[in-house]
Amino acid sequence: MTTVQTIPFFPPHLFEADREELLGLVRDVALDPEQRFILGARSARFEETLRSSLRAADAVLCGSGTSALELVLAAMDIGPGDEVVVPAFGCAPLAASVVNAGAVPVFADVDPHTMVADPADAERRVTPRTKALMPAHMFSVMADMPAFREAARRRGLRLIEDSAVAQGATLDGIPAGLWGEAGVYSFVQVKSCGMPGEGGAVVTGDAQLARRVRMLRNHGQDGTQRFLHHEVGRNSRFDELQAAFQLHRFAGFPRRLERRAEIAAYYTERFAPLAAQGVLPPPPGRDGRCYYVYAVLAEQRDALRAHLTERGVQTHVYYRQPLPEQPAFARYAAPDDRWPHARRASERHLALPVHHLLTDTDVEYVADCVRAFAAGR
Ligand SMILES: *Cc1c(COP(=O)(O)O)cnc(C)c1O
Repeated sequence: MTTVQTIPFFPPHLFEADREELLGLVRDVALDPEQRFILGARSARFEETLRSSLRAADAVLCGSGTSALELVLAAMDIGPGDEVVVPAFGCAPLAASVVNAGAVPVFADVDPHTMVADPADAERRVTPRTKALMPAHMFSVMADMPAFREAARRRGLRLIEDSAVAQGATLDGIPAGLWGEAGVYSFVQVKSCGMPGEGGAVVTGDAQLARRVRMLRNHGQDGTQRFLHHEVGRNSRFDELQAAFQLHRFAGFPRRLERRAEIAAYYTERFAPLAAQGVLPPPPGRDGRCYYVYAVLAEQRDALRAHLTERGVQTHVYYRQPLPEQPAFARYAAPDDRWPHARRASERHLALPVHHLLTDTDVEYVADCVRAFAAGR
């Protein structure tokens, strides 16, 4: 028997091509007379690069995507007594950021196919205490932001966009992150514009909101006078070396995204006929698509996963239960409440490798393995 190849979900050689450059940047930052290792000139330049590429009013770097959500909630004065509607299917920061602000997360069910928050269900859960809607883009598909924008306008609510997985995506010509009053990005290595470390950003069309976030990320200082604290802030700053690395890699971001999009389009085309055999790909098309993760919905998810593992294809299951069923968040959900589509998504989603370093041969092999599984049922 020939040895099976291994196709990693997270490639260990993600930054190998940039190694020499990175080592040079370590020296540059270390020997810079400015001696700023956080929020220096490179961070300012990366903020301006982000801002101008988006045509946003501002982009504010901070410690992580999670921290970016917390900063936005704080800058909007959301706190005790307030409710924020978040998706029932998604990552912990969606609910935890709200809890850590002192407010209450209210969980909305998701669309059964795309797994993003359902705007109609979200609106049904609005009460007089609701302050904001906080949809999140999920895996490969952006949330229905036009509907969320309309719902927020109709109900007089703030709109926060968790675009941590969707940097580089657009919907109706508007970049992910700018549909809400504020959006967030995460630069954790596996995200679309990832780096070898921790960091995030708040992006917004609202310069005033950005000023507040900027102050809150650095102990309530306004950046002109040190040790003058206008309000109680926090420490959520950005590493200067990572900023240098992001500036170096930013020119290649569209090319890397394009490769992910190409792989996703190929998968979707190969998997389109499998719906009747219990494997459902995301809807085809480019608008409102992000390629952080490519996830199918499989009726026999665990069997498909085992089939792929045996053939050397690494896959990933993200959220095995809806957020309101997590021990940490169950207390914020009524005991008789149900999120049937979030539950189904938890039981059926399976993420396949989609990173830009995959070769055509890798991608064809992954698709062949999935099709062989579906045909064998
Ligand atoms: C990754 C992620 C976050 C958090 O970003 P970190 O940088 O890991 O803190 C928030 N929301 C979503 C949807 C994410 O995928």
